[in-house]
Amino acid sequence: MITEATTLLKQHFGYDSFRPGQEEIIINLLNSHRTMGIMPTGGGKSICYQIPSLMLPGITLVISPLISLMKDQVDELNEAGIAATFINSSLKNNEVNERLEQMKQGGYKLVYIAPERLETPSFLHALSQLHVSLIAVDEAHCLSQWGHDFRPSYMKIPNMIEQLHDQPTILALTATSTPEVTADICSALSINNDFLVKTGFARENLSFNILKGEDRDSYILDYVETNKGQSGIIYAATRKEVERLYTVLESRGISVGKYHGGMTNEERESMQELFVYDELQLMIATNAFGMGINKSNVRYVIHYQIPRNIESYYQEAGRAGRDGEESECILLFSPQDIRIQQFLIEQSTLHEGRKDNELRKLQAMANYCHTESCLQSYILDYFGDSIIEPCGKCIHCRDERDSEDVTTDAQMVFSCIKRMRENFGKTIVAQVLVGSGNKRVKDLSFHTLSTYGLMKDRTQKDVSQFIDFLIASQYVSLSDGSFPTLQLTEKAIQVLKGEIRVERKQETKKVTVVKSHPLFEKLRELRSSLAKDANVPPYVIFSDKTLNEMCAILPTNQSDMLKVKGVGEQKYEKYGNIFIKAISEFLEENPDIEKNNREYHTSPVIRNKNADVPISHSKTPSHFISSSLYKEGKTIKEIAEIRSITPMTVESHLLRAMEEGDELNLYSLVSDEDKDRISKSVELIGVEDGLRPIKEDLPEDISYFSIKIVLQQLATN
Ligand code: ADP
Ligand code: ZN
Repeated sequence: MITEATTLLKQHFGYDSFRPGQEEIIINLLNSHRTMGIMPTGGGKSICYQIPSLMLPGITLVISPLISLMKDQVDELNEAGIAATFINSSLKNNEVNERLEQMKQGGYKLVYIAPERLETPSFLHALSQLHVSLIAVDEAHCLSQWGHDFRPSYMKIPNMIEQLHDQPTILALTATSTPEVTADICSALSINNDFLVKTGFARENLSFNILKGEDRDSYILDYVETNKGQSGIIYAATRKEVERLYTVLESRGISVGKYHGGMTNEERESMQELFVYDELQLMIATNAFGMGINKSNVRYVIHYQIPRNIESYYQEAGRAGRDGEESECILLFSPQDIRIQQFLIEQSTLHEGRKDNELRKLQAMANYCHTESCLQSYILDYFGDSIIEPCGKCIHCRDERDSEDVTTDAQMVFSCIKRMRENFGKTIVAQVLVGSGNKRVKDLSFHTLSTYGLMKDRTQKDVSQFIDFLIASQYVSLSDGSFPTLQLTEKAIQVLKGEIRVERKQETKKVTVVKSHPLFEKLRELRSSLAKDANVPPYVIFSDKTLNEMCAILPTNQSDMLKVKGVGEQKYEKYGNIFIKAISEFLEENPDIEKNNREYHTSPVIRNKNADVPISHSKTPSHFISSSLYKEGKTIKEIAEIRSITPMTVESHLLRAMEEGDELNLYSLVSDEDKDRISKSVELIGVEDGLRPIKEDLPEDISYFSIKIVLQQLATN
């Protein structure tokens, strides 16, 4: 069964293997189990019903609220040689009837509809005469009132299903679902908990970056110039800001569009279309832009201001790299923005409980900006993912700067907070520490405290930022509400007692380099002109990922071309020769280009301010550098020192190298006693819910690293 599915995957979509979760969902469906799939954006949800639709008799009905996407999705399927159509309000009555007639004749395997269609009796009647084998409910969180996007017409779905006389199999899909929402969906669609398939929220191809203290406009101009030819989105907080940035960029001759709530529907639609069709390189938008955009080759998303919460940030930033290619998410941070967001929340008409909740969420967003640990891990932890390891590619994981011991400074801050009875906010604590003559400080007699003026050689702003760092690193916590006060956590007490030390990265110097393969531009242009002829968006022909792979493999014959991910037989027949010809021409013009040269597309790296290291991009991926040092006999600590990275990062490198087939003897790193405890715990608890329950069951000194090593060993035995 699954071999047939794999063959179809290759034949129609040109992919060799399934992504996490896909296979399990497909097997469930082929065995007629109602299933729910929670996968991140870009995780490949569509394949989960598209492949079964080809294997099941009858029709697969796809219910989706995103009307603007349907045409593209159907075009994409038709390109891949799959008979599909859509029925929505953009069609005239006679067109709807024609398509219904075709459905009866067995003309389509897949039919996309908007949920509102289920309120049309004539449609329901037509449906009852058909054989529907599978119903895929996309954006299934719209079914729940707890979800962030409830749609009443989704409530009609269970009813409609009941009216069909052959009971179809159901697949509910979403990228965002809290446990409450999941329970709602499963109960509405009678999905058994055993058939809930959840992959993590991690997006492995995204590198997260926060830049502080940049001149934002010149940073953006620079970045857009360096990444010419790549698609990007810039999110700004207000219409006014969008207009201003748009003017700045347009006056420099940059191919840019804009999108916000103050424009007419037509203006917005036309901008969106130009962007999707690669006619515009860059889109500047408020958060109104994005829902329902399926553009897979967005290479970067820049936030000009911080969003209100991590949910919005991850959703917006997550529009980068849906094709799985390396992409960047950059947040340009200014502390002022937090105050503006706070002000907006306080001024809003929300009731007090909701306000506090929003302020808490904003604080989590602020902590994201001040943390010096892995950014991807921070986000995953926020969403309750269980497997959390440094990603190895965010700005903090790539940070090659040395750390400084700042324990003494931290102790000064903590004792000041303590002397002020943990009853005051950040601003006044910083004022007391720098010895400010501020009236409020005097009125409260804080100038008589022994900690008054302890840090008088610093500016108030420096001290304030240092406190932000201590909050983000969980030494200091904040009370709820509009005027949060600072409290010491257990960790801070340990620092005060001298039991643990505090480290912080030195000041930064930033370097940005991104370059794309010289052939890429040529293939991109070819793709654009083919797309125009076929009147489809360019990514429907081939994704950026596929073009990049062509640049790496440089296929000049049929069998090599078919090895490229994304080139199936159907696509090969249509476009294979044209692309082979372009690649052959390019090789003739550039005889020095090597095959399998994957060094292009690199990311910003930050280094010590004073270290004058030349910018060189090693061809060996970072995790393999760590693993070869390990094989030379270096310990994890030594590797961390040699490479100026944290031991945690080295551990994640070693695991990754091992997963990718490097033979490393990591098993010997775990003591026999720990191996025993971990195996027992795994046996007792299982791995269905990830590693967190296992970790929690074990003594605290047993790390995720040890658990993963033992699991790997158990899996290969
Ligand atoms: P989602 O709906 O989950 O956001 P899509 O279904 O749009 O994601 O898929 C995202 C991208 O991943 C698409 O370009 C798709 O062709 C690609 N993709 C899906 N499954 C696979 C796979 N097994 N191997 C490689 N690429 C895949
Ligand atoms: Zn990271």
